[in-house]
This record gives sequence, structure tokens and C-alpha cells, in this order.
Amino acid sequence: MRIVLLGAPGAGKGTLAKDLIDYFKIPHISTGDMFREAVAAGTELGRKVKNILESGLLVPDDIVIQVVEERLKKGDCQKGFVFDGYPRTVPQAIALDEILSKMSAKLDAVIYLEISEQAVVKRLTSRRVCPRCGRIYNMISMRPKNDEQCDDDGTKLIIRDDDKEEVVRKRYRLYVEMTQPLVNYYQDKNILIRVNSEIDHQDLADRVIQTLEKVRP
Ligand code: AMP
Repeated sequence: MRIVLLGAPGAGKGTLAKDLIDYFKIPHISTGDMFREAVAAGTELGRKVKNILESGLLVPDDIVIQVVEERLKKGDCQKGFVFDGYPRTVPQAIALDEILSKMSAKLDAVIYLEISEQAVVKRLTSRRVCPRCGRIYNMISMRPKNDEQCDDDGTKLIIRDDDKEEVVRKRYRLYVEMTQPLVNYYQDKNILIRVNSEIDHQDLADRVIQTLEKVRP
């Protein structure tokens, strides 16, 4: 299965991606995670994107496309993938189609997680992340068992710099301007599946998996 998760920051793409990779046994490709890892490792890529990530702006298309093209060459993508946070602009979507066509492949489905700005702000400002394993929590809807500690490894949870309210609102506006046009792009290709992401997470994951089963190649 070759899947793209589309939706505003905080729509639940990362959490849904975890369900889909477990179910379909395919890799999770999060460009945001790849950039954060590069920043943490202090690589040349990390140095280029550090300030952009902190300010909540978008990394230039040419850099993102190159990172994605390299990632898709790895053997684990043969059976498929779940993209989370990519593509974010129309040129990125066109580039993805071109890369896949060179591999004689195409996308099977684009899951569009719909959510209001108000819900995004509420969710993201209460989001916490484990800096060791990447597990995501929410202090309103998905609390850790022990306050502010990862259930899996006990590490103290953190708030991402770009989850602060003013940065969240900026990221949302950028999403509407740059990423929402992809809804029409994929609708025109007849592969868009709309889901209301403000429902209970387990219901959402079950519905998405049922729908994907119908389009599974
Ligand atoms: P995310 O974890 O998907 O919210 O991504 C975190 C940050 O990484 C974004 O705010 C952007 O600065 C950058 N980023 C991730 N994916 C992309 C992309 N496809 N295009 C441009 N910038 C991206």
C-alpha cells in the first residue's frame, strides 16, 4: 500500500500512521521526523533546516524532494509506505508522482484528516512527545500513565518548540495556503479519502483501515 496522510498540523497524522504501519507492515516516512533527527545529529542537512523548523516555516521544496527521493530508494519501501507530512506543496506532490512513476508505482490512497483551526490549537498546545522513542501523548485525550513520563521508557516528555500557540497558528495559516490545494489535486486523481479527525481515535483508525482494505491492490 502506498499511502499519503494529508491534514493540518495536529490533525493526527503521526498517530494514525502508527496504526497503519502496524496493520499493513510498511514503513512510516515522516519528513518532520527526518528533519528533527538531522537537527539532533548536527548533520549538514540539520544545520540547513534548524532555524526553519523552529520558526514553523516550510523547508524549501528542492531540499525536501531530495530527502524523499533518497528515502524511497531504500529496500523497505518496495512493499509500500505511509507518508506523514509529505507532500506539503503542489510542487512536492508533482515530484512524488514523478519519482513513483520512475519506480513504475503510484499512490493507492490519500487520507485527508479534516479538522478546525480551534481544534488544532487545542490539540497541539497540549501535545507532548517522548524525546527518546518519539511516542506522542496528549494531556487532554491521550495522557501518559505517570504525569509527563513516557509509558514505554520513563523518559520525561517534552513540548516541541513549534507547538507553542503563536507558532501553531502560523503553521496552520501556512497549511491552508500551501498544503490545502493538495485536496483538489488528489480529488481530481480520484484517490482522496476524507475523514473527520475530531472523532475518537480508535474509531478513526478502524474506519480508515476498512476503507483502505477496499482499495488495497
Ligand atoms: P511535522 O512534524 O510534519 O509537523 O514537520 C515539522 C517541520 O518540518 C515543519 O514545520 C516544517 O518546517 C518541516 N517540514 C516537514 N515536512 C515538510 C515538507 N514536506 N515540506 C516542507 N517542510 C517540511
